[in-house]
Amino acid sequence: MPRGIRLERKKESILLNGLKRPFLVKKVFVPMSYKTGSAAVPCVKTGDRVEKGAKIAALDRCEGVSVFSGLAGRVEGVVEKKMPDGSRQSCIAIASEDDFKHPPLRPAEPRKEVDDLSRAELVEMIRNCGIATGYDPGRPASSGLKRASGQALVINGCEPEPYVCAEQALITKHLLEVLKGADILRKAIGAEKVIFVVEDVERELFELVKSKIYFLKWHWFETRSVKAIYPAGQDHFLPCEIPEDSPVFNASTAFAVYEAVFLQKPFFERIVTVGGECVAEPKNLWLPIGTTFQTAIQLCKGLLREPARLIAGGPMCGMAQASADTVITADTSAILALPKEIAGEKTPEPCIRCNRCVDSCPVFLSPAMITLAVENGEFETATKWGADECIECGVCSFVCPSHRPMLELIRQVRTERSTSR
Ligand code: SF4
Ligand code: SF4
Repeated sequence: MPRGIRLERKKESILLNGLKRPFLVKKVFVPMSYKTGSAAVPCVKTGDRVEKGAKIAALDRCEGVSVFSGLAGRVEGVVEKKMPDGSRQSCIAIASEDDFKHPPLRPAEPRKEVDDLSRAELVEMIRNCGIATGYDPGRPASSGLKRASGQALVINGCEPEPYVCAEQALITKHLLEVLKGADILRKAIGAEKVIFVVEDVERELFELVKSKIYFLKWHWFETRSVKAIYPAGQDHFLPCEIPEDSPVFNASTAFAVYEAVFLQKPFFERIVTVGGECVAEPKNLWLPIGTTFQTAIQLCKGLLREPARLIAGGPMCGMAQASADTVITADTSAILALPKEIAGEKTPEPCIRCNRCVDSCPVFLSPAMITLAVENGEFETATKWGADECIECGVCSFVCPSHRPMLELIRQVRTERSTSR
């Protein structure tokens, strides 16, 4: 039995509202270098008119990705904006000029087959289309592909955090495209098979994937399920039988790869779950990268009441936001506006040595010792207690009866290291 906790799922009402593509995004702030290891260089200037899908910043070094516009409009300049992780990044501001009706992007010539493309050509196509989600979350998919090897490629179709259901909506609506994208990724890393993992509580989704694979007669695809015990499935933590060293990608990365290779469509938009009890009409939306959280919430008919907590990502390990001015990036899976009774902000008290955090940690760490070391400013000691092995699932914060901000304290170890470099 894997360690972890059972959580309420709270996804049904969001999924019932479907997957929508709004046409009312008037402005985007597209980040040029968010977590991609290298800043892209702008190839447009203030006042230029850009089409939807146009390249607006070109990759500089081998680890970067090019950046594309998700809006047809006019470039207003480069501004600094807040990212979901709290950092500030230079973004290209683009204002819509088409009476908010963006023409759909038509690929020059959709590809029918990919068998004639070599591994290197596939990786290059993925890189040139700016795909920056997946293998290392927020980093170029192509940088992971170059390093990846292994007998199998894993598609993680799990979303164990409450509310978050963007991947599920995508798999349900675009399963064939996701499977085709997964097969391209398999070819790009030279793996023999693809393992598609879904949570055991999502029976319908599991059967849907299984029957589609059966129908396609793709015998090199397998389906597996993991117990829906958080954090199973979170950030590629998959406690099920998969060959060692198998690279893991999200279904949304597979979909973006399908679009890049078959449709030659660059990466400029993603599905985001906009939810939480404070949102009037929670739903999954296709949104251009660089849309502000404020716009995303307005597209869901706004707020019913003032949230106690605005989160980028899920409620367990997402990042709390001070304002809704933050922009959506390649790895923003959800925007949640939670009320006081759910957010449960409580005053932290001293550790009572109950050991609950130790008994629940899915990677068998001692969160109490790590956090006590951090509170004393002893970051070396925290590292010795295994802070680097933490998968940032937030289970220790959730179970702590003293309401200690465990995850925030553990994250300080990495922040401290990156600032002291
Ligand atoms: S120490 Fe890390 S891995 Fe363990 S429960 Fe806490 S957040 Fe999760
Ligand atoms: S759960 Fe909280 S109170 Fe209990 S040992 Fe861990 S840190 Fe201390």
